[in-house]
Formats: sequence, C-alpha cells, structure tokens
Amino acid sequence: MSGFAPGLPIAIVADDEDLGRLLLAEAAVAAGLRPLVFDNGSEALAAALANEAAIVLLDVEMPGLDGFAACERIRAAKGSSLPIVMVTGLDDEAAVNRAFEAGATDFISKPVNWSLLPHRLAYILRNADREAKILTLIEAIPDALWVVSPRGELRWSKNARSTASTPGEPAHDLAELDSAVPRERFDDVLNAVKLTAGDARPRTLELRDVGPADEHRSSELRFSRCDGGDVLIVRQDTSERMAAARHIERLAFYDTLTGLPNRQHGTEAAARFVDLANAKSEGVAFSYVDLNGFKRINDTFGHSVGDTVLQRVAGVLTSVLAAFDSLETPVFLARLGGDEFVVIVRHPHARATAVRIAMAICAALEVPIAYDTLEFIATPSIGIAVYPEDGRDVETLLKHADTAMYQAKINGGPKVIAYNAAMSARLRDTLDLETRLRRALRDNALDIRYQPKFRLRDGKLVGAEALVRWCDADLGEVSPNRFIPVAEESGLIVDIGAWILRAVCAQLRVWQDAGIAIPIAVNVSGKELLFGDPARVIKAETERAGIDPSLIEAEITESVFVTDATAGRSSVDRIRRLGCRIALDDFGTGYSSLSYLTRFPPDRLKIDRSFIQNVDRSDSDGAIVKAIMSLAKTLNLLVTAEGIERAGQLQWLNACGCDEAQGYLLARPLSCHDIEAQFMRAQPILPAEQPAHQPRRA
Ligand code: C2E
Ligand code: MG
Ligand code: MG
Repeated sequence: MSGFAPGLPIAIVADDEDLGRLLLAEAAVAAGLRPLVFDNGSEALAAALANEAAIVLLDVEMPGLDGFAACERIRAAKGSSLPIVMVTGLDDEAAVNRAFEAGATDFISKPVNWSLLPHRLAYILRNADREAKILTLIEAIPDALWVVSPRGELRWSKNARSTASTPGEPAHDLAELDSAVPRERFDDVLNAVKLTAGDARPRTLELRDVGPADEHRSSELRFSRCDGGDVLIVRQDTSERMAAARHIERLAFYDTLTGLPNRQHGTEAAARFVDLANAKSEGVAFSYVDLNGFKRINDTFGHSVGDTVLQRVAGVLTSVLAAFDSLETPVFLARLGGDEFVVIVRHPHARATAVRIAMAICAALEVPIAYDTLEFIATPSIGIAVYPEDGRDVETLLKHADTAMYQAKINGGPKVIAYNAAMSARLRDTLDLETRLRRALRDNALDIRYQPKFRLRDGKLVGAEALVRWCDADLGEVSPNRFIPVAEESGLIVDIGAWILRAVCAQLRVWQDAGIAIPIAVNVSGKELLFGDPARVIKAETERAGIDPSLIEAEITESVFVTDATAGRSSVDRIRRLGCRIALDDFGTGYSSLSYLTRFPPDRLKIDRSFIQNVDRSDSDGAIVKAIMSLAKTLNLLVTAEGIERAGQLQWLNACGCDEAQGYLLARPLSCHDIEAQFMRAQPILPAEQPAHQPRRA
C-alpha cells in the first residue's frame, strides 16, 4: 500500500500481480483518485469496509479471497451505489456473468488498454455519481417505484433497489408489488402495464382497500413507459388525501356530534326525494322531531350530558328508521341543529307512513336514557307536513312541519300532529300573542284577581286563589287558558310567575297592615318549576314585602311529577321548606299515576271542575269524587272542590264531607278591593279550628 495525497476520493485497488496492480493504481491517480493498493482480496475487502471509497477495482483471480467473493461482500456491505469494477483476465461470458451476479458495476477485460483506463474510470465515476444523485432523489420521493417488463416481470424496485436490470436477466418475483396491490386488482395492474408498454400513453389506476387495522387505504398507480419498453409504476399513497377529503365532506355534510347528515345534507336529500316523488307520483312526508325539555337537561346537567342524550336519541331514531327504510319506502334522517331532527320519507301513502314512523319513534323514546346515575326521558313532539299537499318546496315543507311540531308542543296533548293550513295562521297569532304578552309584562299591564275559597263546615273564607288577568288593547280580555301555554312555551312564564308573586306579596303586605291575614294560593306552572326557581322568588318576594312565606300556597299540577319527577319534586320541596303549603291543582285530570301522592303528599287536593260539574247528577262522577276524598282522608290531605256553579253541587259536597269549596256560585275571581270589601272586612278571618290553616295576624 502506498501513500497519496489525502483529500482525494479513494480507489481501492486489488491485484496479486505486481505490474497489473501498479498500472491500475496509476490509472486511478490519473483519474484523480487516491489509490489504496492491495495484493489480495481479504485486505481489499477490509479496506473497502473501513473507508468511504469512491470506486473499487478488483482483479478476479487472486489467492485466498478472489475478486468475485470480495465483490459480493463489498456489495452486500456497501449497497448498490458504490461502483465495483472487475478486471477479468478471462475474456469469457461466464466470467462476465459471474461478475454481475456478484454485484459488479462494470468489467474491464485483459489485456487492458492502459491509456484508456483513466478515461474509463472517470466515466464510471461520473455515472456512479449520477446514479447516486438519482437514487437520492428517488429516496426523497415518498412514492413507491417499480420498473416492470411489458409481461409484468419486476425489473427493479425502489425498495429492493435491484441493480440487475439488464434486459434478459431472470425476472425478480412480483411478491413485493403484489403486496402493494389488492389481489383482485392485480390483473388490472398487469393490463395497464401491457397497455402502457404498447401505446406509451401514461395512465393511472385508483386502488382502494381496507388495511389490517380497518383503516381505509387508497393509492394511485401511475404507469409510464421507459426507454427500452419497460414500464415505470409509481404508487402514491393517497390515503391521507382521501381521508382529508372525507373529513372535509363530513364537516360539510354531517353533524359531528351525532354523525347524522346535517341540515345542508338533509335539505339536499329532501330536494332529491321531492324530485323522485314527482316522477313517481308519490308523496314525501317531512317529520320535524323536537325533544321536550331538552334545554333544561343542557342547562341543569351541562352540555356533556346534553350531548350524550342527543347521541342516544340519534341512535334510537336511526334504529327505528332502519325498520322502515326500504327501496319502496326510502327514509332519510338529518339533525337540523340543537334537539331538532327531521325524518323524510317517500311513499305513495307518505302521510300514513310518517304517522306510523312517528308513533314508533314516540314508543322507542319512552325508554329512559341512562347517564351515570341519572335517567332522562326524551319525549318528542313531532310535526308532519307532506308534499305536495302541505307545500311544494323543501323550505315550505320544513317550515310547516315545524309549525305542526310547535302545535304539538303547546297542545301538550298528542305528541304527533299533522300540519294543516289553519296552523300557520294560529302560529302567527301565537307569535303575535307572545309579543303582546311580553309587552304587557314589561308595561305592568297584567292584573290579578282573587277567587275566594270557603270552608264548607262553617262557610268561612279560608283563602283565595290568585288568578292572572290580561286585557290587551286590541284583543280585549285574553283567557289565561290561552296565554299561559304560550307563556310556558316561550319561557315567558318564569317572568310572569315572578311578577305575580311580587304583586301577591305586596298585596298580602297591604292586607297584613290592615289587620287581615289570609293565605293566597298562587298557580305555579310546571315549566316554572323546571326552568325557573320559584322557591328563590318566593323567598325574595316575601322578604321584600315583609310577610311570612306560610301565607303563600303553591298550586301545582300533577304533570310536574310525571314529566320530570326528580327535578320537579326537588323544586317543589324547596318551596315547601320555606313554609309554603302545596296544593295539587286540577286533581284527577290527565294523569293516573297516584304513586307520587304517597311518596310526596301535598297539603291539599283540588278536585278538578270536570268532576264537580255533574257530581250530584252522575253516579260515576260522584263515585270518583268520593274515592278521591277517601284517599285524601287516608293521607290526611285537605280537599277543595273547584268550579262549583250550582247549589246542588254544593249540597252534595257538603253531604259528603268535602273540606273546602271554590266556584262562581260562591264567588267569582275578584279585584283586591272587591274581595277585601265583600269578604275580608265583612267576614274577618278568625283563627279557625284547623291549625294547619291558621292564618297569621300582623
Ligand atoms: P286553575 O288554577 O284551575 O284555576 C281555576 C280556573 O277556573 C280559573 O280560570 C277560574 O276563574 C275558573 N273558575 C273558578 N270557579 C269557576 C266556576 O265556578 N266555573 C267555571 N267555569 N270556572 C271557574 P282562569 O282564571 O281562566 O284560569 C285558568 C287556568 O289558567 C288556571 O286554572 C290556571 O291553570 C291558569 N292560571 C291562571 N292564573 C295563573 C297564574 O297566575 N299563573 C299560572 N301559572 N297559571 C295561571
Ligand atoms: Mg289553580
Ligand atoms: Mg284548577
């Protein structure tokens, strides 16, 4: 080994013949290289492994490790880019083939043309350099690359970086390409290779499959013909791009919370349903589904609970609809936002089908939704509008379905209502009423009447019920039966309730100052109990007026315990803890579950007017009222009969031992002045024998 200027690229030279070795070294120097010279294969191998050589020149025949073996091991260790040149003394094809099999880049046969050798080396180096750059470039490309013969034999692959690509070489197996292409598409790939080899026109192929972890994979294969007729296949992984595209599509057309189609998607699908229905002379029903009291779940328990409830409801709706969805009855479900969903169904009898679906939805949603230790019942209100009868375009149909839904909501009756034209007018009226009511409240234009309650035993005034009154400038006197439901639906009831409590407390204070103490019953709507905090209002207003909260009685209806038992009960409980009495109003109507009576006994039952109306004339009504009274006696509750208009009723009730009575026969709802003048002053309340209702004197 001889020393040369360091810094130059290294050439490793091995030849056992002195002259050959010298000449090879000189050629290397002439080519601008620094030769490290050896007379055997083993040392050359060691030097090649220890140095970053630019080129290796190996004589074939050497004692010990021969040129082929050295070449093979250097190639294995150094990869494909290092040029290895074999100097073959044997000018035969077998030696040349062996050299290539061993991984040689080129060969020089003896006798060597020594004057040309430096040029030859420079040429090989330049090629190697270019190849290295190309390989770097290929490395930098994330795509997979293959070169394939027109018959589909793999010539080269980026992964294997095979260099044995001389035409006529035995083909590599296609296993690698195979694994990159789904089985069933392999023939398509081979076909594309053949076509591209034939017409030299670049082409592409889209591949999709599902990976081992169930992930969606997609790729694009591009085919182009190389010089020499082979075909280059570039495979680009498009999974991420496709996933991004799917994600964008989901964001644009699907609701992220429930995974259901969103409003945009829903309206587009609806338009298609309508077009198809037109073509087939069918109908399309739009069912607007809204959950009752959902806002309260959100407000009380937080959005994550609300979200869970919505997801469960979406799941319930999806499974209910799956049972109906078919080719003849295509069904589409979308979430319009909040707790609003729309079900679209196309059918020759769209309305009847929609009603059946709506009933199924109501039934499915009767099953409580559990969350931790909580249970929620998401009762829906459903409004149905049908194309073409109820509207010719999607927007109108959705609006009308919404109107019908709203009707279902304020009716409090049937949960499923089909649209009719009168509803739109009614809705307009309702909205108008709401605006006027809001204004009346703001302007202090509401009023209160007091309807006396009497003890039957001695005819004494035992209290009065505060009843709100509203006289609108244009509409005249509006019944609470009309505007209270509107106030409940709009949420205005909370403010109205607070207004009434303030007015009643102020009046109680006036009476108290005048030496009159009489308990006043205030109607507290179920919506107030659920959405507002009447206990807090009562506490604040009684304190403000300086009166005892026990002068206030809260009249509530059974519905509170039915729709949202837990929350309703705790709200009522807080009122009771202030010292207020609780009366169950309209008792006997609508709800049959009496179990809450034993678990949560009120102080008083007010038997609804509908039972009292014919109590003395109808055996069955009489029997019901007697049953209620004996139930009340068992539970130690007072009973007030409401709506007494005739003497016959009064006599019957008296005879049956009813505690108290209220009705037009005894007294209409009166202004504070009238009730004071007619009943309180004329008949001052004295502490009665009933301690439970002992009024306080100032
Ligand atoms: P309610 O609480 O059951 O009140 C009794 C209703 O029956 C009152 O109607 C009263 O005027 C009426 N009434 C009393 N005696 C007779 C009678 O002998 N014959 C007939 N036919 N009716 C009689 P009103 O004032 O129109 O109130 C209707 C409903 O509106 C009330 O039923 C109550 O549910 C609600 N309401 C009234 N005022 C308020 C209020 O201030 N707040 C709340 N939340 N609801 C109220
Ligand atoms: Mg009442
Ligand atoms: Mg009542």
